[in-house]
Amino acid sequence: MTRKERTRLVLEYFEQNSLPAETELEYSNPFELLVAVVLSAQCTDKRVNIVTRSLFKRFPDAESLASASVEEIFGYIRSVSYPNNKAKHLSGLGKMLFGEMNNIVPSDVEQLQRLPGVGRKTANVIASVVFDKPAMAVDTHVFRVSARLGLTRGAKNPRQAEEQLMAVIPEDKVARAHHWIILHGRYICLARKPLCERCALTSVCNYFGKASRKKPSVTTAKQKPKEVVSKSKPIKKS
Ligand code: SF4
Repeated sequence: MTRKERTRLVLEYFEQNSLPAETELEYSNPFELLVAVVLSAQCTDKRVNIVTRSLFKRFPDAESLASASVEEIFGYIRSVSYPNNKAKHLSGLGKMLFGEMNNIVPSDVEQLQRLPGVGRKTANVIASVVFDKPAMAVDTHVFRVSARLGLTRGAKNPRQAEEQLMAVIPEDKVARAHHWIILHGRYICLARKPLCERCALTSVCNYFGKASRKKPSVTTAKQKPKEVVSKSKPIKKS
């Protein structure tokens, strides 16, 4: 099966099962999403949502963030990972957004990456979620799940994975695919121990296929392949 065919089957499954395709971060405007995504690096969305409730009340826009001290920002975000660095980034981000960008979150990925704390992944999230651009943000979940499923092959870094994914995912599905793959990685295809017995994608998954070939005991005489994935309806190869 080619990567393109495999990708089509995977996306069809997500689409037909109406799986959620949106970020779990809470925000009400582009500025808030930008701040939330910066805070979410190496941190859970749940923790970020707790922190941003009071953070956004105190700093509702770039101007208020720009005029605050790093120490004050730190006080609001101390429970996320790397709070020192992130407080400095948010301070710089507020200053640049307010001082150089007219308080407007740019839609261009290169422009976004000029902001402190904003790397390519964060820039792609903003371009995709806020501006509906076909940009694939590759985080740890997207990188891992895409490799396991076989949507990417031999990608050595997020940039290579992004290029491979963009080559096989239709433009109009890129934004939704990003969320589908993240959520699949967060709740089913876990990093340390993927829950293959609960996954409906086993029939097209490279990782599962290889593991099954190595360990024939995955399916026993009493436990047929379909029973292994019985919690959600498995997809069929066409
Ligand atoms: S079959 Fe297992 S490894 Fe493959 S995508 Fe599903 S959970 Fe991940």
